Amino acid sequence: MTLSRYNNNNSWNRWVLYFYWVLSTVVLTITECIHLVRFGGKAWHEGPLFPEGYGSASLSMLLSLLLAEVLYRYMKRYFDYILITMGLVYAVIVMLTFGREVHGLYIGLDLPIIVALFYFSHSRLWFAAVLTLSSYMALRVMVEPFKTYTGLLDLIAIIGMVMGTSLVGLAILKRGNELQHALERAVTSEIEAFADAVATQNASKYDHLTGLYNHITYQEYLTALIQQHEIYQLPLQLAVLDIDNFKSINDSFGHHAGDLVLREMALLLQECLSTEDVAARYGGEEFVLLLTGKSTEQSHQLLEKIREKLASTAFSVIMHQRVTISVGMVEYQAGQGKDDLFQRADAYLYEAKRTGKNRVVSPHRKGHEDASQISECS
Ligand code: GH3
Ligand code: MG
Ligand code: MG
Repeated sequence: MTLSRYNNNNSWNRWVLYFYWVLSTVVLTITECIHLVRFGGKAWHEGPLFPEGYGSASLSMLLSLLLAEVLYRYMKRYFDYILITMGLVYAVIVMLTFGREVHGLYIGLDLPIIVALFYFSHSRLWFAAVLTLSSYMALRVMVEPFKTYTGLLDLIAIIGMVMGTSLVGLAILKRGNELQHALERAVTSEIEAFADAVATQNASKYDHLTGLYNHITYQEYLTALIQQHEIYQLPLQLAVLDIDNFKSINDSFGHHAGDLVLREMALLLQECLSTEDVAARYGGEEFVLLLTGKSTEQSHQLLEKIREKLASTAFSVIMHQRVTISVGMVEYQAGQGKDDLFQRADAYLYEAKRTGKNRVVSPHRKGHEDASQISECS
């Protein structure tokens, strides 16, 4: 994984533009103050180097800013390079304007390199360094005030300054890259730890073969639902399901086919139950259902529908034979306890087996509600 794609150059571009607005405002304010002091724009000493005077320096800055604002909207792709170039233009304007009166202004030539550092990119840093040095050399040859303003020592100082700042910038990038990689490694291992925790949690919560809840989760749900019942009298029934003659399925078609039948059976249960109900694999070919929010009659009818649906399903993995289940179901009585509840349901299951299998036995053998309103299972 990489964090570099989260580098948002566009938002940095906006901030650099704001910075240039502030810089322009400061330069404008200073030039206006100088104008006031000088009564009508007459030269302080020999006058500014900039051909049109102080006012045109501010005007050039403002015009280039307005142009940048337009480009910001329509030329997003190379805008970082435009902003770096603008840094150089600003430095040159300031040098031309105040260079004769204020010494050492060539320090402004570091501006493009500092702006390039915002983007945390080697290519932009090299671009800024090469652009600054080559432009300065060209200006020194072609523009007279630059020649007179900066002597040989200044030239050496400028080259040293630009190269020195660029080297510091490279060191910052190197250190930043190290930190970024360390951060990426930390984030990756945190994600892996989270994935492991989820996998461990799933493994301990679900039955690996059927995808239903496992025995432990069933026990936890039962405890919680009994507590809900004790507080809010929430209707709660427990049904124990056992596949009939499952051993003979294994014997005839093999354990793998038996496993696939268990899986199909789990899918069918999930299809038929609502989100209020809980289905778990109790163990082997036995399942438990915790049914809530329904009367005992409604739950009985739901179980009948499940039984019927299963009995009418042809399983392709066992040569389109059908599978039946026997079910015992009871309603939770206040103060009864988990073990007692299970034993009563199990006793009804035993009765279903004893009286011929493929049936649901509960204290409410037949209700009068319309079973089609109970579940989607059909
Ligand atoms: P009854 O109708 O009385 O319930 O008979 P039965 O054959 O279903 O019951 P019995 O207890 O005799 O056999 C259950 C079989 O279920 C035995 C066991 O091999 C099989 N079984 C248990 N767990 C699994 C499993 O995970 N996969 C497969 N394929 N078979 C399993
Ligand atoms: Mg069994
Ligand atoms: Mg069985």
